[in-house]
Order: sequence, then structure tokens, then C-alpha cells
Amino acid sequence: MAFVERYAQIKELEERSPRALLRHAALNGLSLKDRLTGRTERGLRLPRVQFLYIHHSFTDELDALRRLVEDLADTHTFIPHSEGVTRVQEGRIDAPYICLSSDDGFRNNLDGARVLHELGISACFFVNPALIGLQDGATIERMCADRFHLPPVRFLDRNELDEIVHMGHEIGSHSWEHHRMAALPHEAMVEDIQRTRDTLISWLGRADHFAFPYGRFADLTAAGYRAVFAAGHVSCATAERGCHANTRPIRADHLLIRRDHIILDWPLAHIRYFLGNNALNGSADHNPYLTAP
Ligand SMILES: [Zn+2]
Repeated sequence: MAFVERYAQIKELEERSPRALLRHAALNGLSLKDRLTGRTERGLRLPRVQFLYIHHSFTDELDALRRLVEDLADTHTFIPHSEGVTRVQEGRIDAPYICLSSDDGFRNNLDGARVLHELGISACFFVNPALIGLQDGATIERMCADRFHLPPVRFLDRNELDEIVHMGHEIGSHSWEHHRMAALPHEAMVEDIQRTRDTLISWLGRADHFAFPYGRFADLTAAGYRAVFAAGHVSCATAERGCHANTRPIRADHLLIRRDHIILDWPLAHIRYFLGNNALNGSADHNPYLTAP
């Protein structure tokens, strides 16, 4: 089994569709305009907590990770996921903060964790216990294709997970084996969420935070949202864009964390544009699960 070790191998496989090229060109224009008018810089300097996440940090993405952190550190303080959650819950948001996380537990997350550790940053890694330590090539290939639409990428094993924790990073729950929570029968979903947290606690001593697979509002139900807290988690994160700038407290089980997904290979100017835009759009406090049945 040949595992993917570089992002270039994935990029090669993705067709450069006219749509993607147009989007790229549009973002070049928008980000340039917002840079020249000072709009992006103005947004980046606003007090807020911005959660930012990746899926992979392949060997050919590590320099971009370093550049991203160094660039954003000019205007932001990087804080652990837990601290970001607490600040939003307490409405204690007095400066621009960034919390980094990474989903899915690929082996290359360890390299990213080492780079971040060197830079003095603690990130949160959301993992699926059923995928940790997978060795069988055919199973990995099937999982990567089914769940992640990726060619085979190796997953972290238990020792590597321990190493990440020893560096001072956090580990969060990302469900048992990366099913779409909203597609599971209620009992199975509740059991999946509880089993994930219990297993991570038995391995590592704690698992406070949850991020559900795929991360769009429609990928979790209101009952699923309640099950996340009933299982003992203190926060639930999405993959919906936005940042948090509330100055009043929000109850832990009323808060829905927004996170912006990025690929390290993206131009830094585009990432800065997205984050500046989030900030100027204001605090993303709406929680659709509170009003849904
Ligand atoms: Zn995921």
C-alpha cells in the first residue's frame, strides 16, 4: 500500500476545474481590494476568538503552516482550544485570538503538532478512536475514500497520540468512526458520541471538546447537539465560518463554536481575507439547534 505523504499528490488528483480557477481569480481580486482599502487589516485587529482548522499537515505543507502562524501572530494571540471556548462562554474577549485545531487524526498531524510546539502553540486534534492505529492497508484505503474522499493516508496510532498530548496539545472527540451524525438512528448516535468520549478518556484522561464530522449545521441534529453535552463534553464545534466576539456570557450548552476550514496550500492573502471578513461580519452567535425540535 502506497500511502500519500505529500499534499502535491492530492492536488495532482484534483482536477483544476474552470469553476475552481474562477473562484481563485475572484478571491485574488477581492483579497487585493480589501488589502488596499485596509479592510482586511481593520478586521484582523478586532477583538474576537477565531477558530481555525485544517485536516492535514503533509511534509510539503509544513513551511506554509509556519508562515501562516508567523503572519497571524503579528495581529493575534494564539490560545488553546479550551481557553478559546472558555473566553467565548464567559464573554471575555478583549483582543484578537486564534485557536487552531485539526480534524480526522491523520499521521501527518504529528508533524504539524511538532511545528506548532516549536512555535509555542497548543492546538486541539479532533480524532476518531476507531481509526487510531489502523494498520490494514485495504481498510485504510476504504475509510479514506468513503469518509474523506482522499487517497490512502495513514492515521495516527496510540503512541503518536500520546506524543501529541505530551507536547501540550489537546485531543477532542470527532465521533467513533466518522459517520455523519445526522444520518445515524438516535440510539446509535447517542452511543457513538458517548463511546468516543469514554474511550478517549480511558486513553488520555480527558476529552472535553467535540467537533462533529463534516461540520455543517445539517450534519448534526438538535438531539445530537444535546447528546454531545449529555455525554460530558463542554463544547461543540462546527465547520461553519465565522468568529465569536460576544461580550456577554453564553451558557456552555447554548454555544455553537464556528470554525473556518483552511488548506495550508491556499494563498495567505485569501486566508487573511476570509478572517478579516468574518471579523467585520460580527459575532456568529446563532445556534440553530436551540430552536429546532
Ligand atoms: Zn472530519
